[in-house]
Amino acid sequence: MAGLLFGTGGTPHSSKTNTTIDGVRRIAELGLGCMEIEFVQGVKMGEAGARLVAEVAARGGVKLSAHAPYFINLNAHEPEKIRASQDRIIQTARIASLCGAESIVFHTAFYLGDPPGEAYIRVKESLGEVMHQLKRENSRVWLRPEIMGKPSQFGTLEEVLDLCTELEGVAPCIDFAHWHARTGAFNSYSEFTSILQQVKERLDRAALDNMHIHVSGIAYGKKGEIKHLNLKESDFLYAELLQVLKDYDAQGLVICESPNLEEDALLLQETYNAQPRAR
Ligand SMILES: [Zn+2]
Repeated sequence: MAGLLFGTGGTPHSSKTNTTIDGVRRIAELGLGCMEIEFVQGVKMGEAGARLVAEVAARGGVKLSAHAPYFINLNAHEPEKIRASQDRIIQTARIASLCGAESIVFHTAFYLGDPPGEAYIRVKESLGEVMHQLKRENSRVWLRPEIMGKPSQFGTLEEVLDLCTELEGVAPCIDFAHWHARTGAFNSYSEFTSILQQVKERLDRAALDNMHIHVSGIAYGKKGEIKHLNLKESDFLYAELLQVLKDYDAQGLVICESPNLEEDALLLQETYNAQPRAR
């Protein structure tokens, strides 16, 4: 994959209908490069439907990823809840793979009051079992735990990178808006640089060639993320982020999760293309 592709989290608002297929078609019409299929309320797409999505996406030159259901907690204290969470990730990976997606994204866990180190061990074990199952199915989909925006949620930059170093087939979903909301920082050229530098040092250059990024404006307070905002209504310095991504020659998908979806996705793409080439 060459360069960064920009697209929306879910079907663009201006699509003919809200089906995935019409969403993919609209992405191509808009001149965007990718879309994340939102299975956030459950994986309701069947195998035949997924194969059709793959065809339309290939024809339109649109790359796909998928977001797993929200109801996942790999640190749940009841074994049946962990199993149900694992099943949701596996089901997302199976259907995403038939759609031609190379990555799935998920919200890994809640701490539930546990010390983060304890939660990490449980998450790593549960996710390791998921990887094991998918490997047996010859799945090649990257599993991407997302950086989360609230301190009650598992998913700091460090936790996500730790999982990626310890588990084969796991790569980060770097949600820059979430990290900004969670820390109240990481909103400048040098701070964005420090994130990419960590990715490079801990995971190798190959990780920068295979990035999966979420961006949006965001409102936040003491408890981190409050809600997503359109970029221009937020304090998020997206142009600085894009410059860092260009300077590092990062490659992969940038998924826009602003409420206005395609409007901000296009804004990001145009801003990125207008910036001077990497130094
Ligand atoms: Zn998410």
